[in-house]
Amino acid sequence: MKTGSFIHNPKMRSLLLKFFGQKNFFWKLITPLLKLQKNMKTDCIFCKIVRGEISSKKVYENEKVVAFHDINPQAPVHILVVPKKHIEKITDLEDSEEDKEILYDIIKTCKIIANQMKIAERGFRIVVNTNPEGGQTVYHLHFHIIGGRQMRWPPG
Ligand code: AMP
Ligand code: ZN
Repeated sequence: MKTGSFIHNPKMRSLLLKFFGQKNFFWKLITPLLKLQKNMKTDCIFCKIVRGEISSKKVYENEKVVAFHDINPQAPVHILVVPKKHIEKITDLEDSEEDKEILYDIIKTCKIIANQMKIAERGFRIVVNTNPEGGQTVYHLHFHIIGGRQMRWPPG
């Protein structure tokens, strides 16, 4: 379709006038872009894994989360479950439907992985290191699932 005929089409014109005539059309235009940017970080290692730009040994994936082997395992089973949305840490989770669903999905995935790795009955540990004193080194929320050996307490 030529631009001229597109603009002169009465239906298109009234649609365009309706959209751009709104007070807040700018925000309606920009909000999806801002959301997209908020959900993706170019310099984050786990975002790169989510996008497939860095290879990983994936064991599970759905619409909201990815689970893959930790590159430096601390036990015979060491899997990381990460949301596809870039959330830096557990304290950044918002009280939104989206984040509630993500958190629920992460927990559900931990259960799936524990069964998949055959550690559900023997026992395992879920760890979420947070901020410097919590030992967090990658600032994209992740749940460690660690198992396959006796866990010690207190943790170091
Ligand atoms: P934390 O120290 O709790 O932030 O955990 C980060 C974890 O990510 C560490 O256990 C790292 O071994 C792991 N890790 C870092 N880079 C990668 C990678 N490219 N693939 C898999 N695991 C990674
Ligand atoms: Zn990220």
